[in-house]
Amino acid sequence: MKKIVIALDGHSACGKSTLAKFLAKELSYVYIDSGAMYRAVTLYCLNNGIINNDADIKKEDVVESLGRINISFNYNRTSGNSDTFLNGLRVEDEIREMRVSNFVSAISKIKEVREKLVEFQQNLGKNKSVVMDGRDIGTVVFPDAELKLWITAKVDIRAARRYKEYLEGGHEVSLEDVIENVKSRDFNDSNRKESPLVKAEDAIEIDNSFLSKQETFQKAISLVNEKLIS
Ligand code: C5P
Repeated sequence: MKKIVIALDGHSACGKSTLAKFLAKELSYVYIDSGAMYRAVTLYCLNNGIINNDADIKKEDVVESLGRINISFNYNRTSGNSDTFLNGLRVEDEIREMRVSNFVSAISKIKEVREKLVEFQQNLGKNKSVVMDGRDIGTVVFPDAELKLWITAKVDIRAARRYKEYLEGGHEVSLEDVIENVKSRDFNDSNRKESPLVKAEDAIEIDNSFLSKQETFQKAISLVNEKLIS
């Protein structure tokens, strides 16, 4: 069976990781959540005083800390997904908190952070049979990926879905804060100098504003199957 790389890029909170997990499961591929890596670096910076209360981030301190940051993934038998570990500690839930979401775009625009994480991502995907989601997977990490999908949805719909996830996870957040976070991450990720969020020329768009998870998956898997038989 042909092995391919599937790159999923798109805006924040549009269901990329849900779709990537479905695809990886169906194809017995490895799923790699590149956003979790940027989130883990951000968490390290928050926990080690590199991001302080006045939100002033000193780039030199972030870059200097990179050598002390080790990110790994371990399969979780209970959830059937991979959990993110930061320096040996499981941080899968912590990295999804709003305090991390609020700073992750500021950390991910730093060139040296991207260089380190892109190298890691390219290594993880070098044997193909991989589904990776993020913002620059089809443009920078795997520009030769056999299938590139650009996932998007209307901003209010994305924010409402993310808000529901926070509530279901027992997190107290306001809908306004979630909308603001999603909008500002979209803006910052799209307008940064290093590897901005852009749709790769050869990416196929799926707008899932009015599609269920299952319908989104059906669209994607038929595109995958076309690639596998071509
Ligand atoms: O995918 P997720 O929403 O968890 O990503 C969190 C943040 O990490 C994004 O808003 C973006 O700033 C950054 N990111 C990135 N490049 C990637 C993946 C994520 O810059 N490939």
